[in-house]
Amino acid sequence: MFPNTVIIDRSRIKKLRKQEEERFVAERPRSSELLIQANKCMPHGVPMSWMASLFDHQPIFSTEGEGAYFIDVDGHRYLDMGQSDLSTICGFTPAPVVKAVTQQMSKGCQFLTPCEAAISVANELAERFSKPQWQFTLSASSANAEAIRVARRATGRETILLFDGKYHGHLDDTLVVSRNGKVEPLTEGLSSLASKNVRIVQYNDLNAVEAVLKQEPVACVIVEPVLTNVGIITPDPGFHQGLWELTRAHGAVLIHDETHTHAFAFGGLTNKWSLNADIVTLGKNFAGGVAIGAYGMSEGIANVFSKESDTDGTTYTTSALTGGTLFGNVLSLTAADAALKQVMTKSAYSHITKLGGMLADGIEAIVQDRNLPWSVQRMYCRSGVTYAPNLPRTAEEAFFVRRCRTKRRTTHISGEPWRVGIGF
Ligand code: PMP
Repeated sequence: MFPNTVIIDRSRIKKLRKQEEERFVAERPRSSELLIQANKCMPHGVPMSWMASLFDHQPIFSTEGEGAYFIDVDGHRYLDMGQSDLSTICGFTPAPVVKAVTQQMSKGCQFLTPCEAAISVANELAERFSKPQWQFTLSASSANAEAIRVARRATGRETILLFDGKYHGHLDDTLVVSRNGKVEPLTEGLSSLASKNVRIVQYNDLNAVEAVLKQEPVACVIVEPVLTNVGIITPDPGFHQGLWELTRAHGAVLIHDETHTHAFAFGGLTNKWSLNADIVTLGKNFAGGVAIGAYGMSEGIANVFSKESDTDGTTYTTSALTGGTLFGNVLSLTAADAALKQVMTKSAYSHITKLGGMLADGIEAIVQDRNLPWSVQRMYCRSGVTYAPNLPRTAEEAFFVRRCRTKRRTTHISGEPWRVGIGF
């Protein structure tokens, strides 16, 4: 047996889990009642299907929140350590946003014309992300969808290159996986045509990126500065610079998805690590929880939005078809203006980085005290634990760790023999 082997009794876990699940439901009679009503009008009783699979227990219905806490219909108060998947990093009721949105709502929330807040937010983001030109959407998914379209338009190419373990939103182009070297739709119901134009390689593998770029014309490479949807996977030194140089050499657009990493630093990791990209996409969090998405572009890329006059010279169209009726609405942009300038300040980022460090220190102390073969994730405000002695460098390694949590396995990661799992 390996010295680091941890022995946990599976039957005890099963019993404890059952006990806790029963207690959880018993203590939430109102949520249970609402779920019965909701099941009659929404599949699985939820307004969007993802909510049904977000937790291992039945959904809870919430009523209000304040700071980092929210309250459910049975009066339970929760500390949201996931910050609603990083959409409430400003807290549930950030006072400046509440004030700005309340005032704007009473004056109108949607005009389908530009508003002054758009200029203010675009300038603020331009400063933080070093991108001069901005467009707005209502989600990060839409920002990524439009960024891909802009890149295709700019290059006249179709293929996009992604990294295993990525998540870039709810769009057919990126809801794809690589199975035995073949890129396929993640599930049924997605376009198999979309996946034909996608290539997937492992994060941190510049040779694989280069091989794809050499093999065929690629419109864009989309990457998170840090992979955030398979635990945390950090870039090797030189990885991002390598991507920048390879995309320059092969005429591809480089897109940085900072939807999550925007929470880690003022101006995201673009600013913190002085990263280069042609397009930066954002979403989720920079309007204090009000729906928004955005992408910033270099002047060169923004040229795809060139104006063309109609034959009679009276109307104009843009050459990259983007936008939606409620995109760029005054309410979202007013909320973003207040959130960026009054909540997501440099000092707020320093504060949450300190808190994240405290959490990581706490986890590390427990791991060391129990002599567990686990490692601690530290990424500014975001901290967590990986059930392996080393942090994974690729999604392949991360998925392996995940599988090892539920199966008996012995394996190697980064050269070290180790064993994780339950029931040895
Ligand atoms: N990009 C990244 C990196 C994400 O993690 C997500 C959502 N988790 C998205 C884009 C899509 O965000 P949304 O679902 O808000 O459109």
